[in-house]
Amino acid sequence: MRFKLFTLLLTIIPFIGLAQQDDSLKIRAIANEILLRSQAYENLRVLTKKVGARLTGSPQTYKAEAWGQNALQKAGADRVIAQSCLVPHWVRGGKDEAWIVGSKNQPLDILALGNSMGTGPKGIQAPVVLINSFEELEQKKAEVKGKIVFYNYKFNDTYVRTFEAYRDAVGYRGAGPSAAARHGAVGVLIRSMSHAADNNPHTGSTRYNDSFPKIPAAAMGLQDADKLAAALEKAPVTLFLKTNGKMLPDTVAHNIIGEITGSEYPDEIITVGGHLDSWDPAEGAHDDGSGCVQSIEILRALKAIGYKPKRTIRVVLFANEENGLRGGGRYAEEARLKKEKHIFALESDAGGFTPRGFGFTMPAELLKKVKSWLPLLQPYGISELEMGGGGSDIGPLNRELGTPLAGLEPDSQRYFDIHHARSDVFEAVNKRELELGAVSMAALIYLVDKYGL
Ligand SMILES: [Zn+2]
Repeated sequence: MRFKLFTLLLTIIPFIGLAQQDDSLKIRAIANEILLRSQAYENLRVLTKKVGARLTGSPQTYKAEAWGQNALQKAGADRVIAQSCLVPHWVRGGKDEAWIVGSKNQPLDILALGNSMGTGPKGIQAPVVLINSFEELEQKKAEVKGKIVFYNYKFNDTYVRTFEAYRDAVGYRGAGPSAAARHGAVGVLIRSMSHAADNNPHTGSTRYNDSFPKIPAAAMGLQDADKLAAALEKAPVTLFLKTNGKMLPDTVAHNIIGEITGSEYPDEIITVGGHLDSWDPAEGAHDDGSGCVQSIEILRALKAIGYKPKRTIRVVLFANEENGLRGGGRYAEEARLKKEKHIFALESDAGGFTPRGFGFTMPAELLKKVKSWLPLLQPYGISELEMGGGGSDIGPLNRELGTPLAGLEPDSQRYFDIHHARSDVFEAVNKRELELGAVSMAALIYLVDKYGL
């Protein structure tokens, strides 16, 4: 019996070995194609420098869509379509200004939060109340009426995974304005969700609760936040604030979709993407120009080496992630209405930095299968395949259709230096790091295509 098992193993092992070897060679070929002939960096340069910031509903939205269609066609997509969706249309409306009122006014560098309402053309002037947390807001709620609330909640520097610090702090941006308005505040300033050493303010969307007045809200950089907190410790401070934000009626934008039709199972769809929109102060290079060009690069590289996927691979450049999530919602809605079979979706929306791993939202037994591929991904810098992750644009596919998800997890130490700030420009992206992200993503897509999930 023992002998039989031994001979059986001898017959099986070479096959397993051969399959692994074949995959390893194929992934090497994809990686070489990307590392030697990638268009990702050049595509990113054109997107960031020729189109620029891509706030939803701005003229650049449509320039970016045209860019995406062109880039996908050039990459060799069998079919490129624009899927329309209704999107919110928020405009910043002018330069945001604030200063500490005194015999000599001290300016603060601020950016109004996305979706926030402006102060009106004259601005507002009011005393400031320093609030370090939502608990403190409740304790001090009697002092808030008629004042500008300054949330000075700090990004927790002890979290090595910086997205945890972001998740911990981002509630002050999202819910802080309405929480303050509830107690009669007239405006809000927040400490940016960042640990950057510079003074750039970091914008991002806020969500008003319709039960309370929609008060103006803006972010400031860390140096100014520390300066304002220090001033408040010494004496009462009055602040001048002028923002100009406005919400216009919804408008139409598009998810840009390019696909390679599957050769064996064309009805089984694998989605890979990033979001095409960005905040307005910079170029949206890391967030999320990088995810867009990496996704396009996967399609280009697979075509270039003559790989014929079994399943349909769809690259999606999603509309309106930043201040509405309407593109991702629309994509999943259409999938549900057409009864499409989405077997896997991957998103890159954590910056074009050196890849470290992937985070997954899928049943444990599927993750076990994915983990067996780790030796094939390790040569390209991937060391972690763990539960937890995906992306905000592909989230609705999981919630509505149960599609397994993954998110690329690059090194996260520099992401919140530039996230939603003026510093998110093309020059902040490293060509090799960007390409290595595309290599890892392409390898994972190749394996899912070959073996299914
Ligand atoms: Zn993003």
